[in-house]
Amino acid sequence: MTTIVRFAPSPTGRIHIGNARTAIINWLLALKTGGQFVLRYDDTDTARSTEEYARGIAADLDWLGIKPHRVEWQSKRFAHYDEIADGLRKAGRLYPCYETADELDRRRKRQMARGLPPVYDRASLKLSDDERAKLEAEGRKPHWRFRLDGRMIEWNDLIRGPQHIDTTGLSDPVLVREDGTYLYTLPSAIDDIDFGITHVIRGEDHVVNTAVQIEITQALGGSIPAYAHHSLLTGADGKGLSKRLGSLSIASMREQGLEAMAVVSHAALLGTSDNIHPCADYSELVSGFDLAKLSRAPARFDEVELAHLNAKLLHHLPWDAVKDRLDGGTEAFWLAIRGNIEKLSDASLWANVVSGPVTPVVAEDDRSFIAGSKALLPPEPWDTSTWKTWTDAVKADSGRKGKALFMPLRLALTGLDHGPELAQLLPLIGRQRVLERLS
Ligand code: GLU
Repeated sequence: MTTIVRFAPSPTGRIHIGNARTAIINWLLALKTGGQFVLRYDDTDTARSTEEYARGIAADLDWLGIKPHRVEWQSKRFAHYDEIADGLRKAGRLYPCYETADELDRRRKRQMARGLPPVYDRASLKLSDDERAKLEAEGRKPHWRFRLDGRMIEWNDLIRGPQHIDTTGLSDPVLVREDGTYLYTLPSAIDDIDFGITHVIRGEDHVVNTAVQIEITQALGGSIPAYAHHSLLTGADGKGLSKRLGSLSIASMREQGLEAMAVVSHAALLGTSDNIHPCADYSELVSGFDLAKLSRAPARFDEVELAHLNAKLLHHLPWDAVKDRLDGGTEAFWLAIRGNIEKLSDASLWANVVSGPVTPVVAEDDRSFIAGSKALLPPEPWDTSTWKTWTDAVKADSGRKGKALFMPLRLALTGLDHGPELAQLLPLIGRQRVLERLS
């Protein structure tokens, strides 16, 4: 059986690192099993969902290297949901309720005051036909609740292990609002059946929904997918991420110039038993991927760690992975500078150091040393051995060694006291510019 997973964002905003982590985990399972990945827009809330957000989410996933095999929109399937909901009405599983939000609220408070759990009492289920007709004549419109069986729902969660939820303790969930619009619960279960979803992988905030959706799926005669609920990410402060987008959105990580694979590696390995290390493409992540490695404890996301990971990724990134993004650079330039950047955009700093203009820094005491060094500059052609040839000669001539020898040359040639190996930079700068900088 082909594995079919889905990522189901609501296009009511852009995705952040926590949502992206869900998408990446699903994508990794699809890659690992040669399966399929469905991108499903959960846009039943037509007032808050926009196409622009959906396009943004698609672009974010694309940047992360996730290429859905199929894209679906819940907003295009309302007629289908209506049919299914009617079937549930006929079967007595979906029943009309007339309580207002205020009435429900008061009832809950009374229950809690008496030490009872605030579970819906099914008052509307007990209405006679006459009572219902009377309420409707008053202009009340029903919302619709799913009548739970009230039994122990069990599944073997691929991350959390064996789960048991007794739906006797749950309120019958509202599936359809007064205005006929759908809450997330029913369309999601219908789609998971219709699209042949074999694995539902999502955040642990959906664990209770799973018990309800298993009941709904069974009521619809669908087969129950495997479920895996991962823990949620917290920020470095230990608080949940959900409400705080800002710099944690995938769009802003991209704008900050982070590498997609640094974000992917971080999101994929965070909260697993593997060390977080940079992977330049998905293949390494796929081979080590196992849902069982995901911890049940909340995983802490720290932007500073991501920045470090980004730098580490760049430090070993081969030329092929950047050549299309590095304006006018050469492989030799890339290999020289990659160890000295934290973001790819930092490369332009070193491009300036190579091509200039550079303001050489020469201390008063070093003037004659620099002039003497200039006179010893070997003729071209230059390669990475030129630096040693030159500085050996300078050393013999000046009697200087170590920092006293190298630092004045670095300052004169680059204007900086740090940077890539001069052995590699020297041939890139070239004799003509070196002569100018030493003058
Ligand atoms: N739209 C839901 C959410 O973003 C999807 C949950 C699910 O994967 O079923 O929370």
